[in-house]
Amino acid sequence: MCFIMVGCKYIADIYPMQFVMTAHPCAVGLVLVGTAFFLWVEMFFVVPMIFDTEGVMYKLAWLVAIFVVYNLLGNMLACHRTDSSVKTLPEDRKIPSEEEKPLWNYCDYCQMLVPPRAWHCKLCNVCILRRDHHCIFTASCIGHNNYRYFFWFTSYMMIGTFLALATHFLLFIVNEKVRKYYLIFHISRFFKQVNLQELNPMFIWMNLIFVLNVYAFTFPLVMIAYQIPTLYLNTTFYTQTDLRYNQGLRENFKLIMGSRGLWTFLSPTIKSPLIHDGTQWKTKKSDVTIC
Ligand SMILES: [Zn+2]
Ligand SMILES: [Zn+2]
Repeated sequence: MCFIMVGCKYIADIYPMQFVMTAHPCAVGLVLVGTAFFLWVEMFFVVPMIFDTEGVMYKLAWLVAIFVVYNLLGNMLACHRTDSSVKTLPEDRKIPSEEEKPLWNYCDYCQMLVPPRAWHCKLCNVCILRRDHHCIFTASCIGHNNYRYFFWFTSYMMIGTFLALATHFLLFIVNEKVRKYYLIFHISRFFKQVNLQELNPMFIWMNLIFVLNVYAFTFPLVMIAYQIPTLYLNTTFYTQTDLRYNQGLRENFKLIMGSRGLWTFLSPTIKSPLIHDGTQWKTKKSDVTIC
C-alpha cells in the first residue's frame, strides 16, 4: 500500500498533468465499477443463499445496501464538487488583516498570501484551505470545505465492504452446501488437500469474490486508520505531529464536520455549516483566533 502511494507521489511530482488525466478516471472508475460489482454479487448471489428472497430479512438487506451505496457515492460526489481552494473565500477574506498578516504565508505558485494551514497542490495548481491531501478516488483535493464528505466516503466504503465480508461468514456458517466451496473450509480442516473435483467454477468464483472483498475492505481500513488520528487531533495527512490546533475531540469534530457534527453520517445532503471559513485557527497554547 505504502509502495503504491510513494510511487504515485513520485510520478505526480514529475508529470502532474499526465498523472491527473490518467489516475483520476482510473481511480474513480475503479470505485464505481467496484461498488456496482459488490452490490450485484451481494444482493443477487451471496445474500439470496442466506435469506429467502421473499422474506423480510432479504428486503432489509436491500435497504441497508441502498443506504450504504447512496452514502458512499453521494459523499464521493459531494467531495468532488465541493471546492476547498482559497478561491472560494469571499473577496474581503482573500486579503489578511494587519494582525493576521504575519501568520499568512506567501505562495510562490499562486503569487499571493494564503491563510495558515493552506498548502499549494501541484495537481490542482491552487492553494487549498487546511489542505489534507489530493485524493485520486474523488478526483479532488481534500481540505477545509470537503473533508466531511471525504471522511464519510471512506467510512461507508469500509462499512460496505465489511458488511459484504460479514455475509460471507454468515453464509459459511448457515449454508452447509456452500461451505465446502470456501478454501478456508479446507484449510480449517487441518490442511485437508482439496479434491481436484471440487475445483469447479463455483469453487473458483466463491474464493475469487471473497479475496476481492478482503482487498476491498483493507484499502478503506488503512485510509480510516490515517483519518481517525487526523480527526481526533485536528491534524492533517502530512502534518500528523503538529498538535497546535488540537482543541479536544468534541471541538475538533465540529470544526471539521460542521455544526451538525455526527448527524452528517446520515446523508451528504444534511446541511452542516462549517464554524469558520478556514482562515482563522485557534492554537492550543494561546487560544487566540488568528493562528
Ligand atoms: Zn498556491
Ligand atoms: Zn489537489
